[in-house]
Amino acid sequence: MSFVIKCLDCGHKAHYYPTSVTCPQCNSQWREAEYDYEAIAKTLPAQLASRPFDLWRYRELLPIRNPNPSLALGEGGSPLLPAINLGMMLGCPNIYIKDERQGPTGSFKDRQASVTIAALKEAGITEMVAASTGNVAISYSAYASRAGMKLWAFVTSLVPSVKMREIALYGSQVIKITGSYDQCKQVAQEFARQRGLYQDMGARTITSIEAMKTIAFEIVEQITAAQGPSPNTAWHTPDWYVQAISGGMGPLGVHKGFRELKQMGLIDRIPAFAPIQADGCAPMVTSWKKGLETAEVVKSPQTHIETLATGDPGRAYQFLRTRVDETNGVFESVTDEEAFRAMHVLAKMEGISAEPAAAVAFAGLFKLIRAGVIKPTDTVVVNCTGHTMPAEQSVLGDNWSRDVKFPSREETPQEGLLAALTQVAPEKFPRIVVVEDTSEARRLIRRILQSQGNFTILEATNGREGLEMIQRELPDLIILDLMMPEMDGFAVLEELRAKPETAAIPVIVATAKELTPEEKNRLGGQIQSLMQKGDFLNDEFLEEVKALIK
Ligand SMILES: *Cc1c(COP(=O)(O)O)cnc(C)c1O
Ligand SMILES: [Zn+2]
Repeated sequence: MSFVIKCLDCGHKAHYYPTSVTCPQCNSQWREAEYDYEAIAKTLPAQLASRPFDLWRYRELLPIRNPNPSLALGEGGSPLLPAINLGMMLGCPNIYIKDERQGPTGSFKDRQASVTIAALKEAGITEMVAASTGNVAISYSAYASRAGMKLWAFVTSLVPSVKMREIALYGSQVIKITGSYDQCKQVAQEFARQRGLYQDMGARTITSIEAMKTIAFEIVEQITAAQGPSPNTAWHTPDWYVQAISGGMGPLGVHKGFRELKQMGLIDRIPAFAPIQADGCAPMVTSWKKGLETAEVVKSPQTHIETLATGDPGRAYQFLRTRVDETNGVFESVTDEEAFRAMHVLAKMEGISAEPAAAVAFAGLFKLIRAGVIKPTDTVVVNCTGHTMPAEQSVLGDNWSRDVKFPSREETPQEGLLAALTQVAPEKFPRIVVVEDTSEARRLIRRILQSQGNFTILEATNGREGLEMIQRELPDLIILDLMMPEMDGFAVLEELRAKPETAAIPVIVATAKELTPEEKNRLGGQIQSLMQKGDFLNDEFLEEVKALIK
């Protein structure tokens, strides 16, 4: 492995040493590693076949001389999960989730920490400082403990206490700063300077950018496995890369990964980048939308999502802005509420419990699809950057559990238990008939309804069967598709409305079809609600269902 460190301002090239953090010629802190891409392109693809799927399979493109397996915790190699339910719901079938929750400490920061600690260990460094909104410090702490290094972790007092305790558990010294994250970084920097300690510099840390680029390498390998090579190159690129950002280090690194693959001729284009911020702290988004070259600083962030509270992105904004513009991407922001909602949707629809910061990316995805920026045919990769910490309070509201009292001692156990269980008996639940010919859509509707847990769902696979079922069961609500073989939804509706027993049952039409004005007329007055498939988010749908059942 041979590489040089190139200054992004003056182009000066230098050898790498972790503690030398500025360009010897112009003093710039913005530098990056450069490899012999031509030589690596000749050998790497063949070598990959026999290597385990983890971050170290790309070792020729990492700034570590001798990767030390005894420091590894299983970093990298996270799965790329197809989000089939989400795709159905959003009408965008090629959504993939890069599941970075599966890193050793539950966030994508594990890449950064594993590579950086490996470099520091190689250089004989034994102590370091990091300012953090939580996850960086947790991850550095884990790897530092493995490497026998000491970490001073500066965190803002808003970091959830469970996260602080985890940092301390690994043996790091936690220093709580009452102030903004930007102020916390200043204190950490001054502390490191006074003691001459190595300090993490976010997006300016060479090893961090190098570590993050492995996400791009993995995505391309995984998309190629899922979809086959692209027409012109060996590997396949997605159309979009979506990630929630704070300082922007993740997308800057991931972009470098795609750039290197392109330089090596393995891919022929770089996906459009969509960095997403929380509205309460979105300096990059607002500055980009205003067309500014330098970011306007947010002095006091107004988001509950502390992980994303970088108010002053500095030059990272300029670099990221260039990447976003070059790839025809966009910056977007979402409210905390939209993020919590997306977090809930992701858990209910895909079985993925992500932390609020990661959910910001999904809320951004929903917004960009709805706005038509991301097209239904696009292949999209969303980075699910971290696992949830106790944030359910903000998401679930009341009534998320059903209480079953255990039988008292006087009753015989069986009787008491049975009596208790009648409290959760399905016979009492409102009954819904779903008339829908595609099994995927039936499964989706069932899934959305069941996530609430208190409906009895009956399914019919065509109009005629549906009509018979409705006349027999007299349900509380009907969810009806329009385009079906044998007897379509319009005909079913006419029959229902003609009979007194079924005339008053509320109907929600859920259809993928663009309705003509005549068709809308035909439905007029006959149904309670019209939902375009792919266009409804599940809680809106559920609210509609609940309102109609009362
Ligand atoms: C750090 C972090 C982010 C923001 O990442 P940057 O690349 O530093 O902007 C997003 N999500 C989670 C879970 C994080 O830990
Ligand atoms: Zn320079």
